[in-house]
Amino acid sequence: MIIVLKPNITKDQEAAVLKEIRRLKYRPHIMRGVARTVVGAIGDEQTHQTLETLASWPQVESVMPVQKRYKLVSREAHRADSTVRAGNQVIGGRKFQVMAGPCSVESEKQLLTTAHRVKAAGATILRGGAFKPRTSPYEFQGLGEAGLKLLAQARAETGLAVITELLSEDHAEMVAEYTDIIQIGTRNAQNFQLLIAAARTGKPILLKRGLAMRIEEWLLAGEYVLSNENPNLMFCERGIRTFEHYTRNTLDLTAVPIIKRESHCPVVVDPSQAAGRAELVTAMCKGAVAMGADAVLIEVHPNPTEAWSDGAQQLTLDGFAQLMRELKPFIAAAGRE
Ligand code: PEP
Ligand code: MN
Repeated sequence: MIIVLKPNITKDQEAAVLKEIRRLKYRPHIMRGVARTVVGAIGDEQTHQTLETLASWPQVESVMPVQKRYKLVSREAHRADSTVRAGNQVIGGRKFQVMAGPCSVESEKQLLTTAHRVKAAGATILRGGAFKPRTSPYEFQGLGEAGLKLLAQARAETGLAVITELLSEDHAEMVAEYTDIIQIGTRNAQNFQLLIAAARTGKPILLKRGLAMRIEEWLLAGEYVLSNENPNLMFCERGIRTFEHYTRNTLDLTAVPIIKRESHCPVVVDPSQAAGRAELVTAMCKGAVAMGADAVLIEVHPNPTEAWSDGAQQLTLDGFAQLMRELKPFIAAAGRE
């Protein structure tokens, strides 16, 4: 911690600060400048009691932490990129992974048709929501366990690994029984009890960024997964809420290289929830590959105009195949397969 003292304080006021620093088992290092004095408090901020309370002392100007608040997700804890295994796929390795499928699982025909076609086009992981976090309680809430069963059927028929969202702690074991990856949605990105319940299933976790979440908060939410003995975490940028109305959200591609720098965990980009418009998804995917993402998560529907959720942003089956063709040279240029 760095403690900046106010100018013109008395010797006794300074001594009281140094005494408090020592009482909390830090070693004070005094730096006297021309205008003011700065004290470095040496000690591990993660194992010592915080010195932030000093900020309320009248003789203290400010207190600044020098250590990061997250530990296990940090690159400092794990230098190399970590990889996550889901079914027969590895996310975070040389292979660029494409997760694709409908926003919601609606029927056997809808899901199976989509699964076969996205696989033929090159997707490796099937997405589909069985429990849907809808803004309005009057909108389609998902098929629940029946939807999970359809996802399991699609996996059995196609060999694709499956990703689906977990909405409630009560469903953690049930969802884990059917899926290869648990998705934590933007609305639940800081639902810490849900994160802990998801982590404890032992399944890989894809953590979407909260709608108004700072990168540090996102990393700290991820820390809940790793600190609950689950090393298989992926961060997923899916757009944040800004003043812009042209798109549903604003895709923050700067988050990709930032998370890559700060963390060893794989990074996924969801351009569908971000743009909210199918015609923008291909360009956003190219950007994601160029920024160093490890995977994309794309919504695809056999008939988007009749989708039960998020129709405007879902690609058609042919549209997805075209996207995959266009993405190929970008994946190669990024040194991925
Ligand atoms: C989704 O993937 O369909 C979804 C609801 O995602 P998000 O939580 O990012 O809105
Ligand atoms: Mn959706």
